[in-house]
Amino acid sequence: MVVTLLDPERGRVDAYARSARKSTRRFGGRLELFARGRAMLGSSRGQMPNLTGFERTESLAPADIDWARLCLASTIAELALVASQPEHADPHLHQWACRVLALCDDLPPARFRLASLTIDLGFLHAIGTLPDIDACAHCDGTLSAGAHWSVASEGWRCAACVPSDTAMVTQAALAFVRQLVNDPATARTGFLSRSVGQHLRQQVDELMADVLPKPLQSRAQLIDALAALTP
Ligand SMILES: [Zn+2]
Repeated sequence: MVVTLLDPERGRVDAYARSARKSTRRFGGRLELFARGRAMLGSSRGQMPNLTGFERTESLAPADIDWARLCLASTIAELALVASQPEHADPHLHQWACRVLALCDDLPPARFRLASLTIDLGFLHAIGTLPDIDACAHCDGTLSAGAHWSVASEGWRCAACVPSDTAMVTQAALAFVRQLVNDPATARTGFLSRSVGQHLRQQVDELMADVLPKPLQSRAQLIDALAALTP
Protein backbone atom coordinates (compact mmCIF):
# COMPACT_ATOMS: atom_id res chain seq x y z
CA MET A 1 0.00 0.00 0.00
CA VAL A 2 1.25 3.48 -0.81
CA VAL A 3 0.61 6.11 1.83
CA THR A 4 0.99 9.85 1.48
CA LEU A 5 2.40 11.94 4.30
CA LEU A 6 2.42 15.72 4.52
CA ASP A 7 5.47 17.06 6.32
CA PRO A 8 5.91 20.76 7.15
CA GLU A 9 9.59 20.60 6.15
CA ARG A 10 9.69 17.98 3.39
CA GLY A 11 6.34 18.59 1.78
CA ARG A 12 4.58 15.63 0.27
CA VAL A 13 6.14 12.24 0.94
CA ASP A 14 4.79 9.13 -0.73
CA ALA A 15 5.97 5.96 0.96
CA TYR A 16 5.46 2.27 0.51
CA ALA A 17 3.93 0.68 3.62
CA ARG A 18 4.38 -3.08 3.42
CA SER A 19 1.50 -5.02 4.98
CA ALA A 20 0.28 -1.82 6.62
CA ARG A 21 -3.23 -3.14 6.98
CA LYS A 22 -2.02 -6.18 8.90
CA SER A 23 0.85 -4.88 10.99
CA THR A 24 -0.56 -3.20 14.06
CA ARG A 25 2.80 -3.24 15.86
CA ARG A 26 4.84 -1.17 13.40
CA PHE A 27 2.16 1.38 12.78
CA GLY A 28 0.95 2.00 16.33
CA GLY A 29 -2.39 0.35 15.76
CA ARG A 30 -4.01 0.52 12.39
CA LEU A 31 -2.43 3.03 10.03
CA GLU A 32 -5.36 5.41 9.89
CA LEU A 33 -6.43 8.36 7.83
CA PHE A 34 -5.88 11.91 9.08
CA ALA A 35 -3.43 10.87 11.81
CA ARG A 36 -0.60 13.09 12.95
CA GLY A 37 2.64 11.63 14.24
CA ARG A 38 6.22 10.64 13.59
CA ALA A 39 6.94 8.56 10.52
CA MET A 40 10.00 6.32 10.23
CA LEU A 41 11.26 6.03 6.68
CA GLY A 42 13.63 3.27 5.58
CA SER A 43 15.54 2.46 2.44
CA SER A 44 13.93 3.20 -0.86
CA ARG A 45 12.21 0.75 -3.09
CA GLY A 46 12.94 2.35 -6.40
CA GLN A 47 12.04 6.01 -6.03
CA MET A 48 9.82 5.50 -3.03
CA PRO A 49 11.00 5.18 0.59
CA ASN A 50 9.63 2.44 2.80
CA LEU A 51 7.49 3.47 5.73
CA THR A 52 8.94 1.28 8.47
CA GLY A 53 6.90 2.65 11.35
CA PHE A 54 4.44 5.30 12.37
CA GLU A 55 4.07 6.63 15.88
CA ARG A 56 0.71 8.32 16.07
CA THR A 57 0.46 11.29 18.41
CA GLU A 58 -2.95 12.58 17.43
CA SER A 59 -6.02 11.67 15.40
CA LEU A 60 -7.06 14.83 13.63
CA ALA A 61 -10.42 13.45 12.60
CA PRO A 62 -12.38 10.95 14.71
CA ALA A 63 -11.99 7.23 14.06
CA ASP A 64 -15.79 6.79 13.99
CA ILE A 65 -16.11 9.59 11.45
CA ASP A 66 -19.51 9.75 9.75
CA TRP A 67 -20.10 10.13 6.02
CA ALA A 68 -20.56 13.92 5.94
CA ARG A 69 -17.44 14.56 8.04
CA LEU A 70 -15.49 12.08 5.96
CA CYS A 71 -16.46 14.07 2.86
CA LEU A 72 -15.19 17.27 4.49
CA ALA A 73 -11.96 15.64 5.66
CA SER A 74 -11.43 14.05 2.23
CA THR A 75 -11.68 17.46 0.59
CA ILE A 76 -8.97 18.73 2.94
CA ALA A 77 -6.72 15.76 2.17
CA GLU A 78 -7.25 16.15 -1.57
CA LEU A 79 -6.55 19.89 -1.51
CA ALA A 80 -3.38 19.28 0.51
CA LEU A 81 -2.24 16.67 -2.00
CA VAL A 82 -2.94 18.87 -4.99
CA ALA A 83 -1.04 21.82 -3.50
CA SER A 84 1.94 19.99 -1.96
CA GLN A 85 5.09 18.86 -3.71
CA PRO A 86 7.90 16.48 -2.79
CA GLU A 87 10.91 18.17 -1.14
CA HIS A 88 9.10 21.47 -0.94
CA ALA A 89 8.56 22.84 2.57
CA ASP A 90 5.16 24.40 3.03
CA PRO A 91 4.50 25.02 6.72
CA HIS A 92 1.45 27.21 5.93
CA LEU A 93 -0.25 24.42 4.02
CA HIS A 94 0.63 21.92 6.76
CA GLN A 95 -0.73 24.20 9.47
CA TRP A 96 -3.91 24.82 7.48
CA ALA A 97 -4.48 21.07 6.99
CA CYS A 98 -4.03 20.30 10.69
CA ARG A 99 -6.30 23.10 11.82
CA VAL A 100 -9.16 22.42 9.43
CA LEU A 101 -8.99 18.65 10.02
CA ALA A 102 -9.40 19.38 13.72
CA LEU A 103 -12.45 21.47 12.80
CA CYS A 104 -14.18 18.35 11.39
CA ASP A 105 -14.09 16.66 14.79
CA ASP A 106 -17.42 16.98 16.61
CA LEU A 107 -18.72 19.52 14.12
CA PRO A 108 -22.52 19.96 14.39
CA PRO A 109 -24.31 19.38 11.04
CA ALA A 110 -25.65 22.96 11.04
CA ARG A 111 -22.02 24.13 10.82
CA PHE A 112 -20.95 22.06 7.81
CA ARG A 113 -21.63 24.63 5.14
CA LEU A 114 -19.69 27.34 6.96
CA ALA A 115 -16.91 24.85 7.74
CA SER A 116 -16.65 23.94 4.08
CA LEU A 117 -16.34 27.63 3.14
CA THR A 118 -13.77 28.12 5.92
CA ILE A 119 -11.71 25.20 4.63
CA ASP A 120 -11.62 26.67 1.13
CA LEU A 121 -10.91 30.25 2.25
CA GLY A 122 -8.05 28.99 4.44
CA PHE A 123 -6.67 26.87 1.61
CA LEU A 124 -6.66 29.80 -0.81
CA HIS A 125 -4.96 31.89 1.87
CA ALA A 126 -2.36 29.19 2.61
CA ILE A 127 -1.36 28.96 -1.06
CA GLY A 128 -1.28 32.77 -1.34
CA THR A 129 -4.25 33.15 -3.69
CA LEU A 130 -6.90 34.69 -1.44
CA PRO A 131 -7.11 38.42 -2.17
CA ASP A 132 -6.13 40.83 0.57
CA ILE A 133 -9.08 41.58 2.88
CA ASP A 134 -7.47 44.68 4.35
CA ALA A 135 -7.43 47.14 1.48
CA CYS A 136 -9.34 47.94 -1.69
CA ALA A 137 -7.85 46.12 -4.69
CA HIS A 138 -8.57 49.14 -6.89
CA CYS A 139 -7.68 52.28 -4.86
CA ASP A 140 -5.81 50.69 -1.94
CA GLY A 141 -8.18 52.54 0.40
CA THR A 142 -9.66 51.17 3.60
CA LEU A 143 -12.59 48.74 3.65
CA SER A 144 -14.06 50.20 6.83
CA ALA A 145 -17.43 50.84 5.15
CA GLY A 146 -17.69 47.28 3.88
CA ALA A 147 -16.55 45.84 0.58
CA HIS A 148 -17.51 43.83 -2.46
CA TRP A 149 -15.52 40.84 -3.66
CA SER A 150 -15.50 39.63 -7.20
CA VAL A 151 -12.90 37.36 -8.70
CA ALA A 152 -13.33 39.22 -12.00
CA SER A 153 -12.15 42.48 -10.39
CA GLU A 154 -9.29 40.63 -8.66
CA GLY A 155 -10.26 41.26 -5.08
CA TRP A 156 -12.22 43.24 -2.55
CA ARG A 157 -13.29 46.73 -3.56
CA CYS A 158 -14.43 49.61 -1.38
CA ALA A 159 -17.80 51.33 -1.81
CA ALA A 160 -16.23 54.14 -3.86
CA CYS A 161 -14.85 51.68 -6.42
CA VAL A 162 -18.02 49.75 -7.29
CA PRO A 163 -21.33 50.91 -8.84
CA SER A 164 -23.62 52.38 -6.17
CA ASP A 165 -26.20 49.58 -6.38
CA THR A 166 -23.62 46.84 -5.63
CA ALA A 167 -24.42 44.55 -2.68
CA MET A 168 -21.73 45.14 -0.06
CA VAL A 169 -20.36 42.83 2.59
CA THR A 170 -20.57 44.72 5.87
CA GLN A 171 -17.53 45.64 7.92
CA ALA A 172 -18.66 43.18 10.62
CA ALA A 173 -19.00 40.32 8.12
CA LEU A 174 -15.56 41.17 6.68
CA ALA A 175 -14.05 40.99 10.16
CA PHE A 176 -15.67 37.58 10.56
CA VAL A 177 -14.23 36.37 7.25
CA ARG A 178 -10.76 37.44 8.45
CA GLN A 179 -11.33 35.46 11.63
CA LEU A 180 -12.39 32.37 9.69
CA VAL A 181 -9.14 32.55 7.74
CA ASN A 182 -6.93 33.12 10.79
CA ASP A 183 -8.71 30.78 13.16
CA PRO A 184 -10.89 28.13 11.46
CA ALA A 185 -12.38 27.13 14.83
CA THR A 186 -14.44 30.34 14.58
CA ALA A 187 -16.68 28.40 12.15
CA ARG A 188 -18.05 26.52 15.18
CA THR A 189 -19.59 29.58 16.77
CA GLY A 190 -19.80 32.51 14.36
CA PHE A 191 -22.48 33.33 11.86
CA LEU A 192 -22.55 34.61 8.31
CA SER A 193 -25.78 35.72 6.61
CA ARG A 194 -27.09 33.40 3.91
CA SER A 195 -26.63 35.97 1.13
CA VAL A 196 -23.03 36.76 2.12
CA GLY A 197 -22.29 33.06 2.53
CA GLN A 198 -23.63 32.32 -0.94
CA HIS A 199 -21.75 35.22 -2.48
CA LEU A 200 -18.46 34.11 -0.88
CA ARG A 201 -19.09 30.52 -1.97
CA GLN A 202 -19.51 31.67 -5.57
CA GLN A 203 -16.27 33.66 -5.57
CA VAL A 204 -14.37 30.90 -3.80
CA ASP A 205 -15.59 28.33 -6.34
CA GLU A 206 -14.50 30.58 -9.18
CA LEU A 207 -11.07 31.09 -7.66
CA MET A 208 -10.71 27.37 -6.94
CA ALA A 209 -11.54 26.58 -10.57
CA ASP A 210 -8.71 28.95 -11.62
CA VAL A 211 -6.21 27.45 -9.18
CA LEU A 212 -6.90 23.72 -9.38
CA PRO A 213 -5.71 21.77 -12.41
CA LYS A 214 -8.98 19.79 -12.40
CA PRO A 215 -12.10 19.60 -10.22
CA LEU A 216 -11.64 17.77 -6.92
CA GLN A 217 -12.82 14.17 -6.90
CA SER A 218 -14.18 14.59 -3.38
CA ARG A 219 -16.14 17.75 -4.19
CA ALA A 220 -19.23 16.17 -5.74
CA GLN A 221 -19.67 13.89 -2.73
CA LEU A 222 -19.25 16.80 -0.35
CA ILE A 223 -21.92 18.79 -2.20
CA ASP A 224 -24.29 15.78 -1.95
CA ALA A 225 -23.54 15.39 1.75
CA LEU A 226 -24.17 19.08 2.40
CA ALA A 227 -27.44 19.00 0.45
CA ALA A 228 -28.62 16.02 2.51
CA LEU A 229 -27.79 17.81 5.77
CA THR A 230 -29.30 21.20 5.12
CA PRO A 231 -32.32 21.46 2.84
ZN1 LIG B 1 -11.48 51.52 -3.64
